[in-house]
Amino acid sequence: FVVHLVCSFFSKLQEDPTKKVDRFLYAMRLHDDQLSDISACFQAEMKKGLSAESNAAAAVKMLPTHVRSTPDGSENGQFLALDLGGSRFKVLQVKVREGTGIRKGGVEMEENTYPIPEELLTGRGTELFDHVSESLKDFLHEKNISLEKKHPLAFTFSFPCEQSALNQGLLLNWSKNCRARGLQGKDVVQALRGAIDRTGGMDVEVLAMVNDTVATMMTCGFDDQHCEVGLIVGTGTNACYMEELRHVDLVEGDEGRMCVNTEWGAFGDDGALNDYITEFDRDVDAASNNPGKQILEKMVSGLYLGELVRLVVLKMAKLGLLFDGHVSDALRTKGKITTAHVAAMEEYKDGLKNTRNILVDLDLTPTSDDCVAVQHVSTIVSFRSSNLVAAGLAAILTRIKQNRNLRTLRITVGVDGTVYKTHPRYPNRLHEVVRRLLPECDVRFVLSDSGSSKGAALVTAVAQRLASRRRK
Ligand code: BGC
Ligand code: MG
Repeated sequence: FVVHLVCSFFSKLQEDPTKKVDRFLYAMRLHDDQLSDISACFQAEMKKGLSAESNAAAAVKMLPTHVRSTPDGSENGQFLALDLGGSRFKVLQVKVREGTGIRKGGVEMEENTYPIPEELLTGRGTELFDHVSESLKDFLHEKNISLEKKHPLAFTFSFPCEQSALNQGLLLNWSKNCRARGLQGKDVVQALRGAIDRTGGMDVEVLAMVNDTVATMMTCGFDDQHCEVGLIVGTGTNACYMEELRHVDLVEGDEGRMCVNTEWGAFGDDGALNDYITEFDRDVDAASNNPGKQILEKMVSGLYLGELVRLVVLKMAKLGLLFDGHVSDALRTKGKITTAHVAAMEEYKDGLKNTRNILVDLDLTPTSDDCVAVQHVSTIVSFRSSNLVAAGLAAILTRIKQNRNLRTLRITVGVDGTVYKTHPRYPNRLHEVVRRLLPECDVRFVLSDSGSSKGAALVTAVAQRLASRRRK
């Protein structure tokens, strides 16, 4: 008996520290059958959002975008563009060139990033938009862009908007870290025009407003005709895809297709994900800008991943499972672990070293086992994110495949967003799970670099191409 006790004591001591994390976070480790269930549930949500009868009650809004075609490569023109709602606010000039002969056209751009002071995100909406339009004026000045002629402008605005046309959109609600007052329920394009008038001295025509997912799909679609899905895994998360117009109840017409902005970040707002939600998700939600809203987003996106890891590590430390039960003030402070930290902890070569440095910076004294364990917490949290995104994507791809009555679907997904771009392991994990969930699809993922910025210009260029074709 004594021998047995001693043995089990030593085997406890030598136990792989990832094992206790696996046990502690078993609810975050989603298996493929669970992912398939989530995927099926999301498919039902999409149907609910698309149908006229159930749309009002649907958590997933499935917003028509009035984008009716992806680029065919013949578009051209020169546009100003604004990109608001991601990790950085940008102003751009985008040139879309038509290809001649065998030379393909291309998209060129010049851009500036303008920091947005924290207080503008939570202050008055008019002040936020004044800042946007003053930055635009600054940009025109700096790039020596003539103020004489009229400039068409396209606006990427990455929040849920109900659009009845390409150049109109009512803000349904804020998400992420923005909650400026006085804009909810208002037409965002009007708000932008008003600000441009107040700033004065610019001749600018706002032609289109698009979600970042749509912009991302369009950018990627300029080079790849198969790109009919846009995905963002960044500060927030969302996806759009080309739906058959006959299924889009909210827009008249049965011919052709229209891009639908799913606003999948709100999946779970009606309790659909309750079986999968952990105490850490509940805590993140309670401490957020918008409790009860954007439930999937809070399990997936960059604004929250670091915080989830912090809450798990804090709880494990309090229970004596890490740092010998020691907790620091820094570890108790909201926001001290960021998604950039999560990415650093999971780096291929330096991950463990980075983990140690991050923990030391939080005034902790980790053992090697602690570092291995915390790194594993990161892995489980970020893996769950890619798993959930894969489940959502699988639902969308299945839907497209059924819409088109295809046995196999060949499709490209354009992707943008800081998590996808900066987390060293995220893309591969996501691709692998999607392919496992959907063996009968031939899916290509294309990083649509700066897609969310460039793409608004492409939406405008495509709209102009379609309009001129109608005139002919
Ligand atoms: C917004 C979406 C956006 C996504 C990614 C979400 O919070 O509601 O409109 O596409 O973030 O930026
Ligand atoms: Mg219809």
